[in-house]
Amino acid sequence: MRIFNFSAGPAVLPTTVLEQVRDELLDWHGRGMGIMEMSHRGKDFTGVLHEAEADLRDLMGIPSNYKVLFLQGGATQQFAQIPMNLLAGRSADYVVTGSWSKKAYKEAQHLGGVRLAGSTEASAFTCLPAANELKLDPQAAYLHLCTNETIHGVEMFDLPEVPAGVPVVADMSSHILSRPMDVSRYGLIYAGAQKNIGPAGLVIVIVREDLLGKASAITPSVMNFATMAEHDSMLNTPPTFGIYLAGLVFKNLKAQGGLAAVEQTNIAKAKRVYDAIDGSGGFYRNPVDAPCRSRMNVPFTLANPALDAEFLAEAAERRLEGLKGHKSVGGMRASIYNAMSLDGVEALVGLMQDFAARKA
Ligand SMILES: *Cc1c(COP(=O)(O)O)cnc(C)c1O
Repeated sequence: MRIFNFSAGPAVLPTTVLEQVRDELLDWHGRGMGIMEMSHRGKDFTGVLHEAEADLRDLMGIPSNYKVLFLQGGATQQFAQIPMNLLAGRSADYVVTGSWSKKAYKEAQHLGGVRLAGSTEASAFTCLPAANELKLDPQAAYLHLCTNETIHGVEMFDLPEVPAGVPVVADMSSHILSRPMDVSRYGLIYAGAQKNIGPAGLVIVIVREDLLGKASAITPSVMNFATMAEHDSMLNTPPTFGIYLAGLVFKNLKAQGGLAAVEQTNIAKAKRVYDAIDGSGGFYRNPVDAPCRSRMNVPFTLANPALDAEFLAEAAERRLEGLKGHKSVGGMRASIYNAMSLDGVEALVGLMQDFAARKA
């Protein structure tokens, strides 16, 4: 019997997808071998890759002037790869709204001119910067944002107003595919797979074609977006199993009715958890400004941290796992990605209410 897995990542995947993977593991479509064992150059795997890309384009409505790349190295490698490919000797703006965008900003500092265009660190990353707090450079090579801060639980539902001609680069690792997004508003979107897409080891980059071909001369070819795009993400061996599994997740989301339907479920799930926190009379607390509370990652603290261990132990008894908060924030964190069912959320809310009733 499976647990309810609230881990921030690697995270829960749809059970039906894993069952299909299990069934196909040794013998994919009667080929007498599994995907992991196949040449990436053969027509079976290239078919899997192209179908995954087509389904992702369909789900997200990716315009035809964008390339979809299936890469390795995680989102963290993108923190370096993006400035290498896009800076072109110019400067880029970074907005720091939590641990992940801060890491991206720091990494980019090694690679060229970057500016801090805004930060909410002084408010402990519990809000987003107001429009008048951003100092955006109209000449910037790009503006980098993390649109869902996985650790602090801060989600951007609106993009800031960006100077004309400055492409927005967004780290969407922990909320890609959680709702429809207008891809045309971004120059580049990237996401590590292990939150809402599939297994770790795969990172997806969606990049507007006019941003290709500006890489600095020292950029290794496996890190060069233009080279990877020319080779259909197959300059070298791509993470084949991850791409296959991601493709099954895309089909699963399409079968649910696409991202508009997925969003409705995610809204309902997040509302249940935030209502439980806000309705607890202060027993539980989430510090994030209401309009930017993440639908995917819900950090919360107990008013009495001495009860944390007991809360987690009772959660484990009910088969609710992965709830311990990130060490930098403390308390708890419920990651309620696409694959977390409403049943799992109800089980968590049941525990929260029960526990508070006994301990308050
Ligand atoms: C998890 C995460 C990362 C880091 O991903 P890795 O695959 O470990 O490099 C970066 N950004 C965000 C928003 C994340 O949630």
